[in-house]
Amino acid sequence: MVHFVGAGPGAPDLITVRAKTLLETTDVVIYAGSLVNPELLKLVKGTCAIYNSAELTLEEVIDIIKTAAHGDKDIVRLHTGDPSIYGAIREQIDRLRELNIAFDICPGVSSLFGAAAALEAEYTLPGVSQTVIITRGEGRTPVPASENLKSLAAHKATMAIFLSAGMLETVSGELIAGGYAPDTPAAIVYKATWPQEKIFRGKLVDLAKLGCCKKTALVVVGNILGSDYELSRLYDANFSTEFRKAK
Ligand code: SAH
Repeated sequence: MVHFVGAGPGAPDLITVRAKTLLETTDVVIYAGSLVNPELLKLVKGTCAIYNSAELTLEEVIDIIKTAAHGDKDIVRLHTGDPSIYGAIREQIDRLRELNIAFDICPGVSSLFGAAAALEAEYTLPGVSQTVIITRGEGRTPVPASENLKSLAAHKATMAIFLSAGMLETVSGELIAGGYAPDTPAAIVYKATWPQEKIFRGKLVDLAKLGCCKKTALVVVGNILGSDYELSRLYDANFSTEFRKAK
């Protein structure tokens, strides 16, 4: 049985209870070496075989899984954050289906949420934005033309931009060209929840000058990082809900 497991954003105690149990009992672990905190590997039993997928191709990963699964072993495929976000799990899932190898998926805390906690931010702030756009700048992996940063910026929603710390100039240029005001608040969170976590805040127009890093950082843009918003209806004394009558 293969378990795709979300390793969380970095802090080793930010994995789920289920993920911890899976790691403690698995026979094989294949972890995404570039981002998964190696501290998590201390949870596995002494006999567990450990592979770093950063050094492997898809075929090599599948071969390791195939051999282990045929030997009736449990395999944890450990992905950073939550596996559904830029995790490249679909291509593995489809191979496993072809090979009739059983699998399940254990969600994890995405760095999207690790970064929100670091920023002490609410992404969906009443009166400001009720939408979060999760995207990336175009690098070696193409982004569909209909989803380019410029067109997404037209929504002026909260934006969480992954995999783009190395192209901050382009990111801010495109977002401003698409409609965000140059003074829209922006932040870069480097290694959210790791001991090395750093937060850089500023205006969108200055994004590339904030002095961050090229890797392991999430760019957050939007007026939710500013000071204006409306109070929620949910806790408004004049608003009835299923559980509470208006006063
Ligand atoms: N599945 C992961 C994302 C993998 S893509 C998740 O849910 O978080 C890798 C990108 O994620 C990095 O380039 C960076 O943009 C972001 N990232 C991963 N861990 C991070 C962290 N601890 N702090 C900030 N950004 C992080």
